[in-house]
Amino acid sequence: MNTDEIADGTRLLAHMGQGCAGAPASTEHRALFAEFGGGGLALHIPTSARAAIVRGTAGPDGCRAMTGAAARALVLFSGGQDSTTCLALALDRYGWVETIGFDYGQRHRIELDQRATIRESLRQNFPAWRERLGEDHLIRIEALAQISTTAMTHDVEIATGARGLPNTFVPGRNLMFLSLAAALAYRRGFKHIVGGMCETDFSGYPDCRDDTMKAMQLAVNLGMDSRFILETPLMWLDKAATWRLAETLGGTALVALIVESTHSCYLGERAIRHDWGHGCGSCPACRLRAEGWRRYIAS
Ligand code: ZN
Repeated sequence: MNTDEIADGTRLLAHMGQGCAGAPASTEHRALFAEFGGGGLALHIPTSARAAIVRGTAGPDGCRAMTGAAARALVLFSGGQDSTTCLALALDRYGWVETIGFDYGQRHRIELDQRATIRESLRQNFPAWRERLGEDHLIRIEALAQISTTAMTHDVEIATGARGLPNTFVPGRNLMFLSLAAALAYRRGFKHIVGGMCETDFSGYPDCRDDTMKAMQLAVNLGMDSRFILETPLMWLDKAATWRLAETLGGTALVALIVESTHSCYLGERAIRHDWGHGCGSCPACRLRAEGWRRYIAS
């Protein structure tokens, strides 16, 4: 099997659940899929086996070909828990990794400010990843703030809007991010684009859905006559499983880094420190992060 086969709308975790090239999935793959991709079911497999599977170095059926040390990946990196976990996953898996972030006039810039801190901490604490972490690209999209009146870019109270979506939803945001990431990937010769979109524990944002991602992969590949692989490794993980994935990738050191340095809080609160990190503790993003942490610790 090669990476092009995975490109056909298949995600890594779905691939693990289904086996390689039509072959039955191995027990290990099914177990990991159940834990990391099967709606949060926590089947126990040894950490060493999990790590090997996540790295693509395990599996009796040649699944290691799903990635390559020579492959290059561009990670959508916001400075939050999910995108930092995705960055660690990419650093573990690919030989060269660059990051892209977007300044769209978000109300709280703290997440953007944390990006450099997180990248530096990864370099300092994970020598194996140091030489793989390349440039950071921060792209300004003032147009998003110009056309948006949501709670993410303006100082209004977070609430549920008329269509049942929270007003933290920025229409078109991820679509724009992915288009720009693909444009950069095109220029710099990247094949893999990695994003932390997730529809397991999410606020109902339609641009985080798996179908939206598949459609965007098709759109950018057609529109740029390319063969990008849009990877969303967290798509079917709940927040507890995302914490577990971080532990699998980088041990307690990575978990500690994510707790201390990543930012999720919609209100931009950094002064209050909880066991799960900094934040107000009551906005939807804090509640989701805290609940995931509680279930991760309990497991
Ligand atoms: Zn908060």
